[in-house]
Amino acid sequence: MKKISILGSTGSIGTQALDIISKNRDKFSVKALTCGKRVELLAKQIEAFRPELVCVEDEKDALELNKRFPKLEVLWGESGLQELAAKTDCDMVLNALVGMRGLVPTYEAIKSGKDIALANKETLVTGGKLIIDEAKKNGVSIIPVDSEHSAIFQALQGNSDKDIKRIYLTASGGPFRGYTLEQLEEVTLEQALKHPNWSMGNKITIDSATMMNKGLEVIEARWLFDVEPERIEVIVHKESIIHSMVEYKDHSIIAQLGVPDMRVPISYALTYPERIQSDVPSVDFFSLGSLTFEKADTKVFKCLKMAYEALEKGKSYPVVLNAANEVLVQQFLEKKISFIDIQNTIERVMNEHVPVNIHGLSDILSIDNEIRGKLE
Ligand code: NDP
Ligand code: MG
Repeated sequence: MKKISILGSTGSIGTQALDIISKNRDKFSVKALTCGKRVELLAKQIEAFRPELVCVEDEKDALELNKRFPKLEVLWGESGLQELAAKTDCDMVLNALVGMRGLVPTYEAIKSGKDIALANKETLVTGGKLIIDEAKKNGVSIIPVDSEHSAIFQALQGNSDKDIKRIYLTASGGPFRGYTLEQLEEVTLEQALKHPNWSMGNKITIDSATMMNKGLEVIEARWLFDVEPERIEVIVHKESIIHSMVEYKDHSIIAQLGVPDMRVPISYALTYPERIQSDVPSVDFFSLGSLTFEKADTKVFKCLKMAYEALEKGKSYPVVLNAANEVLVQQFLEKKISFIDIQNTIERVMNEHVPVNIHGLSDILSIDNEIRGKLE
């Protein structure tokens, strides 16, 4: 039995992970769960999976939950999440939180020696080197959940990182693939929330529409696989069947394919190096007919270009890119700004930023805070 704790168990990734666990009760036990506001859903999960420890966002919700489940230890807030990540007695922590609030809990879980199944890409976007170094120091594995990184990780099995020539990171192109800048000015929240291939939480759905998601994934890949940005090529593949590819120095390319369903990479992260049965359908090549590939348009989708720039410039730039993006996506979701304002404002913030060196978590948190303060 593998002991699993899930941070963000009420979200899109979290609920899919619990769905997998519920169908494989002989393989997993659940030690800790956390949520933000969806406390009713968490209560149902507590009844179904009987964790020892949970965390919610607000103290009031924590006190109420404790009345309903008196034997359960209930923590709350940011500090509660960090404490839970550090002390939960488990083999693997699945970090399915959204946003940069996932960074410190990942760090705490690594420091206490737990393997990480990482969905929370903002952890590596903001804390890349720090997190990878800490994982190495503690002998901890970080297994990617993000479908592209899972594909790369799978394509690397039995091969050496040293032989990688390049990584092809596939992108669906999102709902606005092929749009001009003028067309992007007109798009609505409802259109942006309709992803053609994937069903996901709101933040990543908007990130996919701006293509910031692909930019964040380039940064994530850079740290996970120790490959410089020049060797990471984004390729628009609108069918989302090839989830990414690795080209080796002999020019042989290994791709991982499957229908676009996150339960596949989530399962692999939870059971690696083994695989388990899945009820996700197989790819039907005959009805697909063909797979297509195009270049990404970084003149229109500036977020992708800015992510590469942030990575190349280094220092505090990736933290700034991420913080500005998180605030602006939230403002767009609240209909306070337009879609195109997201990329235009990030561009302005990045241009104005005076970079500083990042020595530790506190530097990351203070830059993040500073940028949020400017935009909120
Ligand atoms: P969701 O928005 O669906 O879920 C986020 C989770 O975080 C929920 O459990 C939510 O709780 C919790 N949360 C939100 N705010 C807080 C807070 N202030 N304090 C504590 N907990 C909080 O996100 P996704 O599942 O879509 O994404 C999770 C991560 O995985 C992201 O980093 C995303 O980029 C990445 N990812 C997601 C994919 C997907 O298919 N969804 C694919 C690849 C990567 P509550 O809902 O109870 O408020
Ligand atoms: Mg992805």
